[in-house]
Amino acid sequence: MNWSQLLNQVYADAIPTLGRGEVATYIPALAEVPANRFGIALVTVEGDLAAVGHAHEPFSIQSISKVFSLAMALRDGGDALWQRCGREPSGNSFNSLVQLEREHGIPRNPFINAGALVVADLLAKRRINARADLLKFMRNRVGNERLYYDERVAASEAATGARNRALAWFIKSFGNIEGKVDEVLDLYFHQCALAMSCVELARAACFLANEGIDPFTQERVLNPLQTRRINALMLTCGTYDAAGEVAFQVGLPAKSGVGGGILAIVPRKLAIVAWSPRLDPQGNSVASLAAMRSFVERSGLTVF
Ligand code: GLU
Repeated sequence: MNWSQLLNQVYADAIPTLGRGEVATYIPALAEVPANRFGIALVTVEGDLAAVGHAHEPFSIQSISKVFSLAMALRDGGDALWQRCGREPSGNSFNSLVQLEREHGIPRNPFINAGALVVADLLAKRRINARADLLKFMRNRVGNERLYYDERVAASEAATGARNRALAWFIKSFGNIEGKVDEVLDLYFHQCALAMSCVELARAACFLANEGIDPFTQERVLNPLQTRRINALMLTCGTYDAAGEVAFQVGLPAKSGVGGGILAIVPRKLAIVAWSPRLDPQGNSVASLAAMRSFVERSGLTVF
């Protein structure tokens, strides 16, 4: 396959959608990103790279970070997480509190905020400095020592994070956050503030396409079963309350973030990332989703 040619076609297919949707405005740092930014990158398990548009420009990965914190938590603690977090789509918005009351503080899955906070608690509990360790983990995945947390974004997340605080304290009230709530939130706000480009993110996620082995360093990040499970969760829970629709239309494990990025995995083949800031009402980037649809239609690469 000529990946560059394919991405150029995919890019052209999605360009007409660029004016649609709204940029996330809950923090200034996201509201200020030029809305017409659009990049796509893919990295194959053989190490081939293709990129088009603003694929080298760092953006706020936001909820896509939940994939990596989950990977670290599974690596740290194996199946222990599943005593404290479910694996079902929530059918509610990503930051909803309502199910937690009925379900005794056990979040539906690790990709809604409640689940990501439990994951962050697990990481924080086992480590002296989980924030530094997560950054190191990401730097290793990307092979870039300069990868950074955007402290301005992290500070804004903290300043506007009333709902995440409410979630964390509520979960704590059920005993499902064991550590200090402030430490858990600090880790969560920072992971959301990781600044990465499409190229970096695709490379970082390549182990998910390669049965858990980072194809660049040959390091085993996860075992094949853990890797399959993350992909399964991405397919069923990775794109907010549109995961069913995305599975229907795209048919790839995918995780999106309110920064406008979408990461998708073609198992045993490649990781692909698209980024454009305008979001649809569910919170998925309009142009990035259009790119994923076009990619699958043109390449025939899907898990189904
Ligand atoms: N920082 C956002 C929050 O925690 C992340 C939202 C997202 O990308 O889904 O609400």
